[in-house]
Amino acid sequence: MSVLSNHMPTAELQALDAAHHMHPFTTNDELAEKGARIITRAKGVFLTDSEGNEILDAMAGLWCVNIGYGRPEMAEVAARQMMELPYYNTFFMTTHVPAIALAQEIAKLAPEGLNHVFFAGSGSEANDTNIRMVRTYWAEKGKPAKSHIISRKNAYHGSSVGSGSLGGMAYMHAQGGLPIPGIHHINQPDWWAEGGDMTPEEFGLARAEELEAKILELGEDNVAAFIAEPIQGAGGVVIPPQTYWPEIQRICDAYEILLIADEVICGFGRTGNWFGSQTMGIRPHIMTIAKGLSSGYQPIGGSIVCDEVAQVIGATEFNHGYTYSGHPVAAAVALENLRILQEEKLVDRVRDVGGPALKAGLESLNDHPLVGGISIKGMMASIPLTPHKESRAKFATDAGTVGYMCRERCFANNLVMRHVGDRMIISPPLVIELDEIDLLISRAKKALDETYAQLKDQDLLKAAS
Ligand SMILES: *Cc1c(COP(=O)(O)O)cnc(C)c1O
Repeated sequence: MSVLSNHMPTAELQALDAAHHMHPFTTNDELAEKGARIITRAKGVFLTDSEGNEILDAMAGLWCVNIGYGRPEMAEVAARQMMELPYYNTFFMTTHVPAIALAQEIAKLAPEGLNHVFFAGSGSEANDTNIRMVRTYWAEKGKPAKSHIISRKNAYHGSSVGSGSLGGMAYMHAQGGLPIPGIHHINQPDWWAEGGDMTPEEFGLARAEELEAKILELGEDNVAAFIAEPIQGAGGVVIPPQTYWPEIQRICDAYEILLIADEVICGFGRTGNWFGSQTMGIRPHIMTIAKGLSSGYQPIGGSIVCDEVAQVIGATEFNHGYTYSGHPVAAAVALENLRILQEEKLVDRVRDVGGPALKAGLESLNDHPLVGGISIKGMMASIPLTPHKESRAKFATDAGTVGYMCRERCFANNLVMRHVGDRMIISPPLVIELDEIDLLISRAKKALDETYAQLKDQDLLKAAS
């Protein structure tokens, strides 16, 4: 098999890309100066770029390629479905077999009481659905004032106007007039970065209690829902202290607040259970899904909705939906993805085999002078970088400088790790083999060593005061 497929030279492709293709979360200058990395193919956990490099993808694309790349079954299902019924909608009392079968399968896998699925094309769309759904739910129940939604700083819920408002990324709110009215953000349970001298348990409880304080401030009769990722992903793989989620659950129950678990990353095996809500022991009314639902082979997302909310929403017409809600090709492909996850017992494998192996490998990096103590749940991990482990100190340089350097050293060693600020994050395909985990760890170690050497050279190992 040839490593390079037949295409223009990399530099020409990069120039065309910079000239015409507007990228998400990218600046023109950097694109023009460095040129985008061009991925030409992928198989298993490895990407191939236009220069023939074989890169281990420790991020599963954007946290989504749970079953790994290049699965022929997925392509065959898509081709068959396109021949049979490439498109039909699910508006106005019509449906089709792929949407029916996928909704049934999702209901089977979801926790008890979550038996209804509203499909969308992405996680952002699904969270936009959720905003309208929870507000409509309370309005239908005769409580239209219950419309405020509480979320968290540094949460990620998508990039549309609604979902970007739910998210708590300050740099996103700074553009385009976000957040929309009626969305409020409390602090996140990131003990490593913000816990100070508290124990993780004290800190988890204190951050959960901010939800109660916010509800009391807004008035219980004005709050519709609380939304959160069971484990924050894009915020830097923030695994809350054990005390956090039980207290959040107690507060939601006590004040009749709907709980929306954004499972876009945690769902479909990432944390060692089908859903992160199971791993963290919570009972949401609505779960947002996307990413791992189709392992990224087709764009599809949705909201899994509890019986009570679905019944109230369905009592009158819910004036909401997307042209591609339940798209038959995307639904058929997602169904095949769920079949593969089950047949290959990939969720059990994360919990019993791959997750523990990744944990052991990453923990071997804890001795590294830059590593502040890894945290991991299932196959979601973070490696915080610090100039001083004991105090969890930040670097004196601008936040993200060191993380970016480390990410560049990872690429140079044919490893994709993302950085969030000065924290490296890992979320490989769930199918990653044990020898591939070893390779991931050895490349990560080399990248960390090179980053350390570079920081020393440039005298950047100083802690912020
Ligand atoms: C990626 C992500 C989304 C947005 O999904 P898109 O498909 O990119 O719109 C929403 N929530 C979480 C937790 C995510 O990680």
